[in-house]
Amino acid sequence: MPAQIRKKIESLKEKLRRYDYSYYVLSQPQVSDKEYDDLMLKLKSLEEQYPQLRTDDSPSQRLSSAISPGFKTVKHKTGMFSLDNTYSIDELAGWDERVRKGLGSAAAYEYVVELKIDGVSANLTYLKGKLTVGSTRGDGQTGEDVTANIKTIRAIPLLLLGKDIPDFIEIRGEVYMDKKDFSQVNKERIDNGDVLFANPRNATSGSLKLLDSSIVAKRHLNFFAHSLGACSNHTINTQWEFLTRLKGWGVRSNMHSELCRNIDEVIAYCNRWQQKRDELSYEIDGVVIKLNSLSQQKELGFTAKSPRWAVAYKFAARQATTEVTAIKVNVGRTGVITPTAELRPVECSGVIISNATLHNFDEINRLGLREGDRVLIERAGDVIPKVVKVMEQRGRKAYAIPGKCPACGEKIVKEKEEDVAYRCINSDCPAQLERALLHFASRDAMDIEGMGEAVIAQLVSLKILKSLADIYNKLNMENLLRLELFKEKKAGNLLNSIEKSKERPLARLIFALGIRHVGQKAANTLAEEFGDIQRLMQARAEDLDKIPEIGQVMAGSISTYFNLNRNRSLIQELRDSGVNMHQAPASFKANRLTGKTVVFTGELYGFSRSQAEELVRRSKGKPTSNISSKTDILIAGLNAGTKLKKARELGVRVIGEDEFKEMVK
Ligand code: NAD
Repeated sequence: MPAQIRKKIESLKEKLRRYDYSYYVLSQPQVSDKEYDDLMLKLKSLEEQYPQLRTDDSPSQRLSSAISPGFKTVKHKTGMFSLDNTYSIDELAGWDERVRKGLGSAAAYEYVVELKIDGVSANLTYLKGKLTVGSTRGDGQTGEDVTANIKTIRAIPLLLLGKDIPDFIEIRGEVYMDKKDFSQVNKERIDNGDVLFANPRNATSGSLKLLDSSIVAKRHLNFFAHSLGACSNHTINTQWEFLTRLKGWGVRSNMHSELCRNIDEVIAYCNRWQQKRDELSYEIDGVVIKLNSLSQQKELGFTAKSPRWAVAYKFAARQATTEVTAIKVNVGRTGVITPTAELRPVECSGVIISNATLHNFDEINRLGLREGDRVLIERAGDVIPKVVKVMEQRGRKAYAIPGKCPACGEKIVKEKEEDVAYRCINSDCPAQLERALLHFASRDAMDIEGMGEAVIAQLVSLKILKSLADIYNKLNMENLLRLELFKEKKAGNLLNSIEKSKERPLARLIFALGIRHVGQKAANTLAEEFGDIQRLMQARAEDLDKIPEIGQVMAGSISTYFNLNRNRSLIQELRDSGVNMHQAPASFKANRLTGKTVVFTGELYGFSRSQAEELVRRSKGKPTSNISSKTDILIAGLNAGTKLKKARELGVRVIGEDEFKEMVK
């Protein structure tokens, strides 16, 4: 066997051990999980090809020794394990096949599926119902004693409730941090000049290992129980039974767990949650599938690192590490100069990413970013990828803010000292016009098919389009045929879609104008409220401010926009060209929420909080966040707490999620 294979394996092991230390002990990873997982896969595949080179201390064979200095250690009664990963439905089906074979083809079996909470494992020991020790997973056999910190987590009961409590039980679960608490922690770290946490999991792990519990208490850690460790006077037969018992003991487990009769139901669950993961207030990185029967679990047993009776189905990673090849600036439709990072292309969330937003120049400063640096990027859902942090400073030169607009060469300025954004204030800047036209023609605005970036760029550079209204006044067959790749048919189609766009509803037009701060939702509200652009133009900032959902800043921006002569003439020109300026009042059916002030509390299972609030608004009700004697209805989800108590004291009507659903049907 070639010496270089041995060398390669040693170098992979050495790298992974180093990364383990940074990740588990320091809570400051040096690479993304994806990069780590890819290296681990490489190591495993080499060890499979050359089994004689597989050693017991290889990171592929054991959990890393993740004990941080400063903590007492605790021995777990039964080992705590990692999970084997599957990355595709095929691999998952392959695992099910192995389970079936392991149990004997004739055996009947069921699975419990649970969300894979992206947090940190903890082991809670209860003696006669009393929490005595809380520890981390550590190396699987021995963990760090973090009892004082565990006790700051409100979701963890210090005393178990109910009657049938075992004398001794180890309850295992995931300590995690809600996304909003994670942002708050990182915000504070920016203010203190501390290194940022890469994700909520690292923030949780860092928090759990703080030596001062009063700081931990401020981090708002949370907990979901998911696994049973050692247990005396044991009468639990299945994982499902265990999850049910937890509720009786007052221990929080995740409400989305389900019992599945076969692998098809498991796959459907995985696909469903892959789509819905962003609706949760916490991060999940996959689904955990467990054999339901504990005796069947025992039958299959464990490998050195993970159980054979459970597996993780991992979603595509949302973070990746790559290099910033350049920092470029773009000019937006309102003249805002936005820096973007050009990246060495890398796969993230299943797509190839080659640039990421940097928001503004303060962000570059905050990140300490230079061209050439190695960075961690993140792409969640359809959100534009962003740079999370610098992983390794490689660039030599600190970044300097350009003095001039890259499109027109005019000076760029901050309008007010407290602004973060720099702007190009040249109203004839071609880049701003291009962006404004592109926004106007976009699908959610006037939806002019065929009027994309390339077409607009040519029309602006040929000086055919100098304003939004020119779309309707200046374009004709003759000048469209001057464009690259334009023949009569293509030009005819574009002219047709321009003609069709004149009929768009008023809300689309308001959005298309690109008034600062006015998004689609606000445009809808304004169209419904005024029904005509003339009435909107006459509204004063004070009147606009009174409309729910239109805040003071937006109201000011709308009135400034319509006070400018050039915008008033634009509206006149659009009107003269036959663009629709009216909207019939929205058809609206009153229901039992109409006119009611509504508060939500606890966790909803069928809606995200913002969806539920939107439904109240659509019913012409008013969602608010604080309970008072003025509240008409409290909608209580699971684990409702103080608001529910207060509502009862004040005699506010309380309904559950199902009744709410009925009301808004
Ligand atoms: P893991 O995170 O892939 O999965 C196992 C863990 O899932 C369990 O220990 C448990 O804590 C957790 N879990 C969440 N919900 C659960 C549920 N409902 N039921 C059971 N368990 C549940 O494995 P791991 O061993 O904790 O961590 C390994 C992973 O960590 C690697 O795959 C890698 O992605 C990451 N890592 C990254 C670096 C880095 O440098 N970026 C270094 C080391 C590890």
